Amino acid sequence: MNTALVENYPGFPEGIMGPELMANMRKQAEKLGVEIVDKNASGIQANSQSIFVFFGKSEIQTKAVIIAVGAAANTLQLPGEDRLMGRGVGTCAVCDAPFYRGAEMVFVVGGGDSAVEEAAALAKYSKEVVILVRKDKMRAAAAMQDRIKQSNNIKIWYKSEALEFLGEKKLEQVKIIRGGKESVISANGLFYAIGHTPATGWLKDSGIELDEKGYIITNLKFKIQSSKLQFKIQNSQTLDSYFPTSTSVPGVFAAGDCADPRYWQAVTAAGAGAMAALDAQRWLETTS
Ligand code: NDP
Repeated sequence: MNTALVENYPGFPEGIMGPELMANMRKQAEKLGVEIVDKNASGIQANSQSIFVFFGKSEIQTKAVIIAVGAAANTLQLPGEDRLMGRGVGTCAVCDAPFYRGAEMVFVVGGGDSAVEEAAALAKYSKEVVILVRKDKMRAAAAMQDRIKQSNNIKIWYKSEALEFLGEKKLEQVKIIRGGKESVISANGLFYAIGHTPATGWLKDSGIELDEKGYIITNLKFKIQSSKLQFKIQNSQTLDSYFPTSTSVPGVFAAGDCADPRYWQAVTAAGAGAMAALDAQRWLETTS
């Protein structure tokens, strides 16, 4: 909903606007008989018979639930950000990099692997990319940092932070502080790469296992440890009783960015949604 042109979702050779893609998905689900309730869920409680999903004072009793609440890219809420978000200020350079073909200067904020990945994507199009790192070192893996050294148009400015975005209709300048000194620098774009926050705060007391950043842990054991992905099927499980998208609460499944600390793409989220739906269906067939 918060993105402009989506060019990396299959089936749309010319791309499609994010809100239009979402409206289409909703229409398609409704056409197939899905009843949609527009309410914020506030909690989940499960016992051995049923699962209760709460929406403030009302509740729905059910046998299976798929949680697909997403994650939001973190931003700094700097002055000018609301006005220029999507107009030069963004959160997914990997998605938007081609729009910066021939750009003079684009900033990336962050010091992790994402910052490197975003900078590398932008450097294919923009003449100069500068990563603003708030400390005097990057947190990104050494191998990732080597990618910067091999590039001739990515620079790192340490002890540097963005302070304000300037420009009326599109980003034109960024006020930064570098080594304690403020300056205003012309830029075509600035991308945040300072992490994501999954929208899972409401699951705190549900018994559903979350990782330290709040991502839902499913049976895919889809967690990142020292930059290594670990997938593990427990040996004791047969394939029939293995529900990859199940959370730690039986009958509750999770899909998309709220359970994915790695890809954050519409297409991977949609694919995971299909996996969760198949798991939930098999769960209902085998348990009821
Ligand atoms: P990280 O949490 O690893 O890094 C976030 C970065 O943002 C840190 O450098 C942090 O700075 C910085 N930051 C946080 N808040 C602020 C702020 N207020 N102002 C300025 N900077 C700030 O997130 P990533 O998205 O980079 O990575 C998430 C996970 O995904 C990691 O496990 C990573 O390894 C993985 N990943 C792997 C990739 C790959 O292998 N190709 C590619 C992309 C991601 P500080 O260091 O000072 O705390």
